[in-house]
Amino acid sequence: MKDDILHNLAVINERIRKACEKSGRNTDEVRLLLATKTVSADRIKIALENGYPLIAENKVQELKEKYEDLKDILHENHFIGHLQTNKVKDILKYDVTCVQSLDRLDLAEKLHQRLSAENKSIDVLIQVNTSGEESKFGIAPNEAIELTKNVSRFPTLRIKGLMTIGLFSAETDKVRECFKILKNLQQDIIRENIPNVQMKELSMGMSGDLETAIEEGATIVRVGTAVFGPRIYPDSYYWDEGKAGKI
Ligand SMILES: *Cc1c(COP(=O)(O)O)cnc(C)c1O
Repeated sequence: MKDDILHNLAVINERIRKACEKSGRNTDEVRLLLATKTVSADRIKIALENGYPLIAENKVQELKEKYEDLKDILHENHFIGHLQTNKVKDILKYDVTCVQSLDRLDLAEKLHQRLSAENKSIDVLIQVNTSGEESKFGIAPNEAIELTKNVSRFPTLRIKGLMTIGLFSAETDKVRECFKILKNLQQDIIRENIPNVQMKELSMGMSGDLETAIEEGATIVRVGTAVFGPRIYPDSYYWDEGKAGKI
C-alpha cells in the first residue's frame, strides 16, 4: 500500500514537472493538493509523512472522522466540497484553512458570522462553474465578479483566487476552454482592483487533466484517483449533494 502511494506520488510529480517545463513555468509555482475523499486516514498519513502536506475533503463528515488520526501530523487542510451553511461551524472546528468552494453569498455571510464570533479569519477561493454543467456547483462566470466584490466586504474572508472543476471530457480543447475561462476571469478581477482581494491562486486540474490546467496557469492541482486509486462512489455523489439522487 505504501509503495503504491509513493510510486503514484512520484508519477504525479513527474507529470507536474513536465507540464511546467512545457509551458515555461517553474515547478514551485504549482502545488499538489491531495483530494482525500473516501481515503482512510492510514493512507493519507503515508502521503503526509512523505512530504505532501496539502490535503482536502469534500464532506464535513469525513473531515470529522479522520481529524483525530491526522491532527498530530503537520499538514494543511482545505475544503473542496459543497458546503452547507449549517456545517460552517464544523469546518472551523476541524482546522480547515481554506474553503475553495465558496460559491454563494449566503455561505460567505454564515462563514463571516461564525469567524467573527470566534475572532478568526480564513482563506477562500471563489468556485466558478466554467463547464456550464448544471450538475456542478460554482457561480456562473458572468456573476463571479459581483460575488467576489460582495465577499470582499467581509473582513474575515481572505479571497486568494478562484477554483473550478473542468468539464469531464476526453476532448482536451473543451476542457482547456474551462481553464481559460477561469484564467480570464482572474485577469478581469485583477483589473477591477477590488480592495481585500488577491487573485494569486487558480485551483484547477485533477488526475485526468492536470497538464492542461498547468498549461493554462493552475497554481494548485487537486489530485485524488491518480494517487489513491479509484473510488467506489461516483463523483456526482460528492458534487451533486442535494441535486442528484442518492446512492
Ligand atoms: C475528487 C475531487 C478531485 C480529484 O479528482 P480525481 O479525478 O480523483 O483526481 C478534485 N477536485 C474536487 C473538487 C474533487 O471533488
